[in-house]
Amino acid sequence: MEMCAVSFDDVGEALQQINQLAVVDGQRSLGELLALAILDLHGSASLHPRRNGYADIRPVPCSLEVARGLIVPHMPADLRLLEDEQLALVQLVRELAANELVPQAAGYEERSEDPRALYEQLAALGLTGIPFSEGHGGAGQSYLTYLLLVEELAAAYLGLAIGLSVHTLCAFAIDSFGSEDQKRDVLEKLTSGEWFGAYSLSEPDAGSDAGSLQTKARRSGDGYELTGSKVFCTRGREADVVLVIARTSDERRGVSAFLVETDAPGFEGDKKEDKMGWRSSPTWQLTLNGVRVDEARRLGAEGEGFKIGLASLDSGRLGIAACAVGLGQASLDAAVGFTTEREQFGRAVSDNQGVSFMLADMATQIEAGRALYRHAARLRDAGAAYSVQAAEAKLFCTDMAMKVTTDSVQLHGGYGYITEYPAERYMREAKGLQIVEGTNQIQRHVIGRALTATKSS
Ligand SMILES: Cc1cc2nc3c(=O)[nH]c(=O)nc-3n(C[C@H](O)[C@H](O)[C@H](O)COP(=O)(O)OP(=O)(O)OC[C@H]3O[C@@H](n4cnc5c(N)ncnc54)[C@H](O)[C@@H]3O)c2cc1C
Repeated sequence: MEMCAVSFDDVGEALQQINQLAVVDGQRSLGELLALAILDLHGSASLHPRRNGYADIRPVPCSLEVARGLIVPHMPADLRLLEDEQLALVQLVRELAANELVPQAAGYEERSEDPRALYEQLAALGLTGIPFSEGHGGAGQSYLTYLLLVEELAAAYLGLAIGLSVHTLCAFAIDSFGSEDQKRDVLEKLTSGEWFGAYSLSEPDAGSDAGSLQTKARRSGDGYELTGSKVFCTRGREADVVLVIARTSDERRGVSAFLVETDAPGFEGDKKEDKMGWRSSPTWQLTLNGVRVDEARRLGAEGEGFKIGLASLDSGRLGIAACAVGLGQASLDAAVGFTTEREQFGRAVSDNQGVSFMLADMATQIEAGRALYRHAARLRDAGAAYSVQAAEAKLFCTDMAMKVTTDSVQLHGGYGYITEYPAERYMREAKGLQIVEGTNQIQRHVIGRALTATKSS
């Protein structure tokens, strides 16, 4: 049976319908309304997994065009257990990926250009506020649903998915620890995409050892003055607001969290780093030169900066894990496409068991990573503790992505080493995932500490 794809026109029309529906039906979430409106446009059979045979569609090996990154890779993530609303959103992001992201990703990367226009497209589709309450402009979806969409985005364009993940990390801190005024004044601008958020903890001498950070927030009148150097801030200058962690007392844990607008006097972008990968995801060295921040923009109480920063990182690590699974999947798709079309010794390269076994191992590892991040997300959605599971997911998924992308380059032979094919870019991109939001050694510390603490209690 024919499957009906969702186009951008459909989405625009659906959003118009939603605007009308929302007036009469305040009970439903944006995602639910979007799903219903799209279903309505196509008739109810079009998106339903069982009624239209959607779940039975097997992954087709991608062509060389796919391997070169010209068309969206087919994503064989199993959709059968998704709810209708999740499925509609995944479908929406796949269409966006196919039509807008895959064709443009390599260009933005080559030009090292921040894809602001694409972020604005994400915002127009309601994707900048997926896991936040509707009362604050979000889509009222679960964290799991948000991560499913991050995985899809990462498979098409990792740099963009990273930016969304950092944006959501900043918004998460406000959603969890902010006052009602902060939610109204800042969170709602983030969920709507009017503003984009960033997160700044790292400093020149404070990376894994974040407790040694030196940026000072000195009391001044009814607010603070922030002074110091920050490094590695993703989208720092390009963002509108940055969650800055700064020292408010000399005690090691005496740090606080501040919402700093990037157009504030004294907020300076010193240098945009030249990087191995993620070149269109700008990484900034920043100087805070007596930046004035009102007390109303301090998040939580004085001294709660670590609690806020680390809780945000738990959520962020799941975003990185989902990115790694998407990247691994794109890399596998490219390898399947290449090895089934490339012939040597009179047959497809994939007909060699040594090659197909590598593909099988890649697929199995990706699926294991997917299960791991989804499990941690379900714990988070249920309100259970999930820090250790987030660390396990970040560790496993990003190490997996490194291995899978390296094997994909190997399976492409010499073509894997040239930039015309995306395999080498995927491999460069995977490396960054093992480093950010706590290196994988630090994830092992988190997991190891939890194991030994359990034993000694
Ligand atoms: C592309 C990119 C984007 C980033 N984006 C952001 C951002 O938006 N916001 C932000 O705040 N930061 C960001 N970071 C910073 C990132 O989180 C840090 O680079 C990371 O936490 C490691 O810190 P470091 O680079 O100072 O390395 P260091 O802490 O100096 O570590 C060097 C090496 O020593 C190892 N090591 C250190 N301590 C231990 C230990 N106790 N046991 C075992 N091994 C250890 C590390 O694992 C690493 O291999 C980004 C980094 C990159 C590369």
